[in-house]
Amino acid sequence: MTHADTKPDYDALVIGGGITGIYQVYLLDMAGMSVLGVEAAEDVGGTWYWNRYPGCRLDTESYAYGYFALNGIIPDWKWSENFAGQPEMLRYVNAAADAMGVRRHYRFNSKVSAAHFQDVGGLWKVTLSMRSKLEDGDAYVAWTFSSIHRPPKPKPAPRTPSTPTPPPPDLPAWKARLKNI
Ligand SMILES: Cc1cc2nc3c(=O)[nH]c(=O)nc-3n(C[C@H](O)[C@H](O)[C@H](O)COP(=O)(O)OP(=O)(O)OC[C@H]3O[C@@H](n4cnc5c(N)ncnc54)[C@H](O)[C@@H]3O)c2cc1C
Repeated sequence: MTHADTKPDYDALVIGGGITGIYQVYLLDMAGMSVLGVEAAEDVGGTWYWNRYPGCRLDTESYAYGYFALNGIIPDWKWSENFAGQPEMLRYVNAAADAMGVRRHYRFNSKVSAAHFQDVGGLWKVTLSMRSKLEDGDAYVAWTFSSIHRPPKPKPAPRTPSTPTPPPPDLPAWKARLKNI
């Protein structure tokens, strides 16, 4: 804990540096929040970092994984195969992390090992364990503490005339249609 118990060290904590974690860190940074990413591995990639067995690849088509390209983060990304293999997937996540500049927010080789919400002050007290190099291998030995705010409740998006409230589903009509299938 680097501050008094009532002052957060970070506005937000993101656990994991896979495709969803790095994008979450990016969005929080863009929103002007101080964010800490924590990843047990030594770099980003998540699933595609950990799974490296021969033949490891997507089982959905690559374009369905094209999130970062579609959002203009790596717009020129071209998949080399319809079902990309793990090496390409890891390159893809790394390219997205580079483009978003998120690594500077991450603490790698670190695990979130506990998180306790404190009613007084409304803060999370988070425990990290960090991997250290030892003579006989790696071990999680060092501990540090951090605290973050209770996340603000998101406000519902205002409805405008262009986004009318959808009508409730016509359940009797659906049931009738299902009977005929
Ligand atoms: C072999 C394989 C093939 C797949 N193929 C497809 C596919 O074709 N299509 C599809 O849509 N999905 C597929 N998936 C699912 C895939 O996991 C998701 O698509 C996606 O990668 C999940 O991303 P994520 O960032 O949410 O989680 P992950 O990629 O799982 O990343 C989570 C990260 O969090 C870290 N972490 C977890 N707990 C902690 C902690 N306490 N402290 C610090 N770090 C922590 C982990 O080390 C990990 O790096 C596949 C999964 C596997 C394993």
